[in-house]
Amino acid sequence: MLPYQTLQEAELELRRELSYAEKLWFDYSRDKSDYYLYCHTILFLFVIFSIVPLPVVFMEIKKSHTILKYKIQPKVKISTQGIFKCYKDVMITFCLVVGPLQLVSYPSVQMVGIRTGLPLPSGWEMFMQLLVYFLVEDYTNYWIHRWLHCKWGYDKIHSVHHEYAAPIGFAAPYAHWAEVLILGIPSFLGPAMVPGHMITFWSWIILRQMEAIETHSGYDFPWTPTKYIPFYGGAEYHDYHHYVGGQSQSNFASVFTYCDYIYGTDKGYRYQKHYLEKLREAGSGDVDGINSKSE
Ligand SMILES: [Zn+2]
Ligand SMILES: [Zn+2]
Repeated sequence: MLPYQTLQEAELELRRELSYAEKLWFDYSRDKSDYYLYCHTILFLFVIFSIVPLPVVFMEIKKSHTILKYKIQPKVKISTQGIFKCYKDVMITFCLVVGPLQLVSYPSVQMVGIRTGLPLPSGWEMFMQLLVYFLVEDYTNYWIHRWLHCKWGYDKIHSVHHEYAAPIGFAAPYAHWAEVLILGIPSFLGPAMVPGHMITFWSWIILRQMEAIETHSGYDFPWTPTKYIPFYGGAEYHDYHHYVGGQSQSNFASVFTYCDYIYGTDKGYRYQKHYLEKLREAGSGDVDGINSKSE
């Protein structure tokens, strides 16, 4: 809750006129507790999980030729019932695990010092903090994900996420409840190390989920803006990890490609890519994606 009752008080304290965004934030957050503001995260997650995958899923159901040529594993079809079941299961985990976890994790947000007051962070400050969050999450997630591929971790926990050998957007958060809890650690580590404003925290949660939905979409669109991000993995990169499944020792990273490159866990993927390119050059008509040679 803001320690000012009026805009004038806030401007007096900051010794300057508030920006338009700060006035909006003042009006919105003035009479709301910090806990209430933090709980907005649940709403954002629900909306992102439910809405962002929809355009691609609708076109998948309609078997739209506009996007079919970009499907990474074109021979794998998922029924409408299968898609609905995936969403239903994700929502059950959301209600039983993600939501309650958010409700009880507020003390940790208080402890690390995520602030809700004024001034708002500058665009540059937000960008740098978000970059740190992505790098920290990517590195930590890489090692946890590698551990989840040991026999015990895979059999007991991670095999649930790998039920989709050809993932869809709704399957991004589809995982065992224990995996959802464990992977909450890398997500929170960045904000704990470099705490910022609640708006930066919300932006982080939203962007990370959107990134996960894109990498699980099953489609590699050439026009996606993420293609311009250096060392970004993307849909094709993570799709290969799902395609290989439990035996996969490739492409563990959640966002970028550099960890797999440094630790040598992208060899299978690189070999496959090189092999398919050679086939394309040789004029094979059956090279439409990473699943082509499985049949
Ligand atoms: Zn995996
Ligand atoms: Zn995945």
